[in-house]
Amino acid sequence: MAVIGWIGLGNMGRPMTTHLLAAGHRVQGFDVSPDAVAAAARHGVEPAGSVAEAVAGADLVVTMLPKGEHVLSVFTGPDGVLANAPAGAVLVDSSTIDVATAGQLHQLAAEAGFGFVDAPVSGGISGAAAGTLSFMVGGDADVVAGVVPLLEPMAGAVVPTGGPTTGQAAKIVNNMMCLVNLVGLAEGSQLADRLGLDHQVFQRIVTASSGDSWAARTWYPVPGVVPTAAANNGFAAGFSAALANKDINLALAAGETTGVPLRGAGVAAELLGRAVADGLGDLDCTIVTRYANPDGEL
Ligand code: NAD
Repeated sequence: MAVIGWIGLGNMGRPMTTHLLAAGHRVQGFDVSPDAVAAAARHGVEPAGSVAEAVAGADLVVTMLPKGEHVLSVFTGPDGVLANAPAGAVLVDSSTIDVATAGQLHQLAAEAGFGFVDAPVSGGISGAAAGTLSFMVGGDADVVAGVVPLLEPMAGAVVPTGGPTTGQAAKIVNNMMCLVNLVGLAEGSQLADRLGLDHQVFQRIVTASSGDSWAARTWYPVPGVVPTAAANNGFAAGFSAALANKDINLALAAGETTGVPLRGAGVAAELLGRAVADGLGDLDCTIVTRYANPDGEL
């Protein structure tokens, strides 16, 4: 049994903690949203009133926050993780953030004497709920080896990716590919419909054919086709358009610095940026399907 300090109990963090509790660990959870803490407490998370309270006595600290700036602010300062976690605690950031901030976190953690891994996840809220997430874990081999068993209750796969920041690198590229697939799915679903195909029939065909993707199997953007889709729920966010827009821009920035032209990702960024500008950022990213509908509707 381990004591786990968990910071960030949103769409991903809250369901992830349920699997640690089921594995017999104690989870002390903090979020700036009191509603998020209360929801997690209903599943057995011990509510903490601050980062310091969440990490008190922890063997492992996990952050699951929106962006790099949030993780950095939670780690640093007198109220932060680094100043308050007990010596010997291992720190894990499972948020999706930029490689430069991940590198900074590795350095700050090492200076403060903590083992740290960047360990972002793939699998969406359905994977978080099912405990089948893929973890991509970057860091020093001995720290990674120690962390893997603690991540396993939440995971279908835990893949060491190499040294510091390689987890975030893998995640950024993965999400770029998923969001490019989303553009294909959004446009494909609308074109199939206008060509007279039934959505359920088309989804069954495409997921057994070469147009298949995780997005087509999990996010089909029309109600009543796949149970995991946000379309069934008025496009309430599983993975918000704002966070998807963040991720696609992390990929574009990485393309800039490495000199890799990313034209397909550019289209995905254009559509997700438009959704955010249209005030749809808090809805699910599959809302971009609206832009492929000839009437601008869904
Ligand atoms: P979310 O917005 O639902 O949850 C983030 C939580 O962090 C919120 O509850 C928020 O109140 C809290 N928070 C923000 N700043 C804080 C602070 N300073 N201290 C404490 N709590 C703070 O986001 P999410 O969908 O759970 O995603 C979390 C991370 O995981 C993001 O980096 C996202 O890109 C990544 N991710 C999301 C999905 C998905 O499908 N939703 C899948 C894989 C990875």
